[in-house]
Amino acid sequence: MSDPVVAASGEPIAAEVVIVGAGPAGLFQIFELGLLGISAHIVDSLAQVGGQCTALYPEKPIYDIPALPICGAQELVDRLVEQAKPFNATYHLGQEVTEVRRLPDGNIFVATSAGVQFNAGAVVIAGGVGSFQPRRLAVDGLESLEGRCVHYRVKSAADFHDKDLVICGGGDSALDWTVALHDKARSLTLVHRRAEFRAAPATVARMRELVAAGKMQLIEGNVVAHVTDNERLAALEVQVADGERRRLRAEHVLAFFGLHPKLGPIAEWGLELEKKALKVDTEKFETSVPGIFAIGDINTYPGKKKLILSGFHEAALAAFGIQHHLFPGKRQFLQYTTTSPIMQKRLGVAGEEISA
Ligand SMILES: Cc1cc2nc3c(=O)[nH]c(=O)nc-3n(C[C@H](O)[C@H](O)[C@H](O)COP(=O)(O)OP(=O)(O)OC[C@H]3O[C@@H](n4cnc5c(N)ncnc54)[C@H](O)[C@@H]3O)c2cc1C
Repeated sequence: MSDPVVAASGEPIAAEVVIVGAGPAGLFQIFELGLLGISAHIVDSLAQVGGQCTALYPEKPIYDIPALPICGAQELVDRLVEQAKPFNATYHLGQEVTEVRRLPDGNIFVATSAGVQFNAGAVVIAGGVGSFQPRRLAVDGLESLEGRCVHYRVKSAADFHDKDLVICGGGDSALDWTVALHDKARSLTLVHRRAEFRAAPATVARMRELVAAGKMQLIEGNVVAHVTDNERLAALEVQVADGERRRLRAEHVLAFFGLHPKLGPIAEWGLELEKKALKVDTEKFETSVPGIFAIGDINTYPGKKKLILSGFHEAALAAFGIQHHLFPGKRQFLQYTTTSPIMQKRLGVAGEEISA
């Protein structure tokens, strides 16, 4: 499967629809809008699509997706991206939507943390349980070094070449990057709060070989303080298991403690909320603000169940609601993908038949 198109930041973009959140509901929304001839931009705070499925349980099998008796969570996401491909949505990943505001002309203004702005005909909020944020190092003063010396994901591995590097964590990301960077960094220390690791056993074994060969250090403990020099990180202090403190040279620290969801800016967009969820009608899945729709785990209505299946149904009805919102004079027909030439043309499958 090829990667989705990723837009560069720049001028405000005129968009028919902006989808906030690229979990299963947001991805299926691209498809349902596409069938009706409506194009979409989709934004996610994570660097990859898939929402909870990809971030929290990619390897787990799901058993309640219609017609797929068993489907891996990441496999489901890959299939959704593949299914949405004919509609060429633009993906804006690794940036949070910080502002959604209805303009006097009825259009919706959307802005992201990366400086991308949209003037959209409609917005669909598919923000799930909120925007996923990295769990941060609990050390006072480190926030000011974020992005320069303190990192929660790798943007460019070359930044760590020939540098004194400390990696924190015990899962796959921490161990994979430890093995990948041990011979690129000037020095590398892995700091983990306990002796057991959650990462793949083969990678843990490889890391232990590197430690035994003197190519890197492993320390059991927690980072508790830091030292700066000229507003750059110079060292970290680690409290080790016996309570002693050790000082490590560190020009950069990479911490992989997992992700946690945060409702974040969605709560500040003036939309009616109930128990941290967006209230919607069940005809169009529109929020209290015309032109702003909400589907998937982020919404609430009588009888709501937070299931992937529910998000798919909501995306279908929201697409019709959005079509009516954008083109109020247009008559709406229910068309089947099996028989509609226009839908088949949009899907790029016109004239195809399944051979017996
Ligand atoms: C362990 C586990 C097992 C599960 N098993 C099942 C199962 O078997 N069957 C089932 O039906 N459901 C299951 N679920 C629930 C299912 O994963 C959710 O119902 C589903 O992921 C909701 O999809 P969504 O697209 O609404 O939201 P999410 O998957 O939460 O995706 C929302 C996305 O929006 C992004 N976002 C939020 N706010 C912003 C913002 N301001 N700017 C940019 N991006 C933003 C987030 O980063 C995230 O990527 C399970 C959940 C868990 C945790």
